[in-house]
Amino acid sequence: MPAKEAKMPADSPYSILFEEVKIGPIVAPNRFYQVPHATGLGRLYSNAHAAFRETRAEGGWGVVSTGACDIHYSSDHGHRAFDRIWDESDVTAHAKLTEGAHRHGSLAAIELNHSAAASLSYYATRTVPFGVSSDKGYEIDRPVQSRVMDKEDIRNLRRWHRDAALRAKRAGYDIVYVYAAHGNQVARNFFMPEFNHRADEYGGSLENRARLLKELLTDTKEAVGDKCAVALRFSVEDYDVVTDSGLYRREAREVVEYLKDIPDLWDVNLSWPSDAPSSRFGEEGFQRDLVSFVKQITSKPVVGVGRFTSPDTMVDMIKKGVIDLIGAARPSIADPFLPKKIKEGRLEEIRECIGCNVCISMSVVAAPIQCTQNPTTSEEWRRNWHPERIPPKKSDSRVLVVGSGPAGLECATALGRRGYEVALAEKGRELGGRVTLESKLPGLSAWGRVRDHRLQLLEKLPNVEIFRESDLTAGDVLDLGYDHIVLATGATWRRDGIGGSSRSAIPGIETAKVFTPDDVMKGADLPSPVLIYDDDHNYMASVMAEKLVQQGKKVAFVTPGNTAVSWSRHTLDQRNIIDRMLSIGVMIEIGMRLDNVDGTQAIFKRNLDYKETTVEFASILVVTNRSSTEKLFYALNERRPEFLDRGVKSLTRIGDCLAPGLIATAVFSGHEWARNLDEAPTNDLPFLREY
Ligand code: ADP
Ligand code: SF4
Repeated sequence: MPAKEAKMPADSPYSILFEEVKIGPIVAPNRFYQVPHATGLGRLYSNAHAAFRETRAEGGWGVVSTGACDIHYSSDHGHRAFDRIWDESDVTAHAKLTEGAHRHGSLAAIELNHSAAASLSYYATRTVPFGVSSDKGYEIDRPVQSRVMDKEDIRNLRRWHRDAALRAKRAGYDIVYVYAAHGNQVARNFFMPEFNHRADEYGGSLENRARLLKELLTDTKEAVGDKCAVALRFSVEDYDVVTDSGLYRREAREVVEYLKDIPDLWDVNLSWPSDAPSSRFGEEGFQRDLVSFVKQITSKPVVGVGRFTSPDTMVDMIKKGVIDLIGAARPSIADPFLPKKIKEGRLEEIRECIGCNVCISMSVVAAPIQCTQNPTTSEEWRRNWHPERIPPKKSDSRVLVVGSGPAGLECATALGRRGYEVALAEKGRELGGRVTLESKLPGLSAWGRVRDHRLQLLEKLPNVEIFRESDLTAGDVLDLGYDHIVLATGATWRRDGIGGSSRSAIPGIETAKVFTPDDVMKGADLPSPVLIYDDDHNYMASVMAEKLVQQGKKVAFVTPGNTAVSWSRHTLDQRNIIDRMLSIGVMIEIGMRLDNVDGTQAIFKRNLDYKETTVEFASILVVTNRSSTEKLFYALNERRPEFLDRGVKSLTRIGDCLAPGLIATAVFSGHEWARNLDEAPTNDLPFLREY
């Protein structure tokens, strides 16, 4: 294996992070450990998946891992792109991944998985799911129950797991996981009393309930332990807001004591979704106190997570004996080169994860993973985008970017890195557009990292000039004489009530004191009580509620959704958001569509029975759709013949100016435009397909 080649300054306070760690029969080259996490790539996009992990290895992660990898067709995940190692035909795709990791001196880990009762096998493979009990997995409305595993099923499961471990070893993996964390795994369900009602030697006492877990560990060690380390991924906490009695926590500790030194590595975390809260609900290192006991019990190395981006926090975690390896999913997605940047003392270049959980949302909706901070995520193979390298310019074209939100900032930065001469014009004094405004709202300060990272890079790019307080008109733009004009002028929140469930303005809305999130972000004082109407269904309305309560307003939150803040379930925020709103006294009503408004009265129709309900308010805050700020675009477009005469080569809209969306979408569009400048136009696909 080649050594990690990056140089570290002799006096670096972070040298401890680059110490080797012995894990069973193998040695990790440093303490940076990319833990298993979903990518939405898996078996469907195996080239993209291998390149995604290799890029993290290249960036200095001493260990890179797969996501959950199904060991058998009875644990199929239907449309979701889990990894697979069902049989020998899967080994080649895995070998691509391990070779990529080894090319950079990193270890490769595989997380063997069987989701038992929670598998979706009844869709694609027509296999009746099975588990410790007859159950609906985690879907209350699933029309299929699992069957109860008998002794033969248990023997089969052990054999499949052992065979999968052997295949993993043949594919070149260095670490093989037994997975009993997060929620959906067979051995974990056996150990939890609410699932396990068995009367045989696998039920009853904790030792009996943990028997399958112990067997899988010892089977795996016997099968591959000569060459591979065997890791146990285990959740030490499972919050159940309804019945939290501390039982899981107490028993998890007993399981750690029982299995103590059997695994070569403990990978410890919390159950899903508490394991990966957004930055609004979980700070860096939030798991520290919950996982620290594990190292007191085992003599084996421990890896833990906590959205670590600060090398000082990482050093503290090691020095205080909390964990031995710095586990990361999100920080490694946002910055595959985080370890190298620490090693080379380039801390200001770290692309810090903002904790928005857009990455998680994509794998939940079964799409290739996206990242707000890192537009090259999932594009390493299919678009050949590298997170740190970008091709040099291919012409001396000069580019004017109008608007310094996430789209404009990313576009100017990427163009600047390519060497183009760029002017970035911003109407306001502050740069950052929506991320600057939103980062001032409760719980969203990390959004500012989207701006800060790009400004750090721009500082070093003399070819990018920034013009603040430049509210450009079409005439200004043409007079400036740039070759390419990129409009990143963003979007504003609508005031007429058009949103997810209404395609026309709400009758009478103009008779009320109506406000939008833009007004609140600009400091408007809303008369109380405030009625928030959320037809956006993401985070914004709830953040507005928090802000208004902080200002002493009485707030009612009404949504036409049949649950509150429904999109935020994909980012794992929904439960936390609802709990927070309730805890600060916000009255929440769901399933009520705003029908019309009359001064200080809002008349709703209930989804359930179409009955009318009236809510009184002093002001109404509508959080609905947004409108692109496209006046400048249309003014320029009208003068297209004139600007073509003047030598302007292109006029393009990017980000929210083209179509309002996620911050991640805006960053991506800015990056994409910059990458494609002077590339030959193609009518073919803009990326490679996987077959
Ligand atoms: P995105 O998410 O697409 O990057 P934002 O709404 O965050 O969009 O940012 C758009 C930025 O463009 C804002 O900072 C806004 O002040 C700026 N802007 C809008 N119109 C103009 C204009 N005519 N000239 C210069 N800047 C503009
Ligand atoms: Fe972090 Fe958001 Fe990127 Fe996920 S999408 S890695 S949470 S910045």
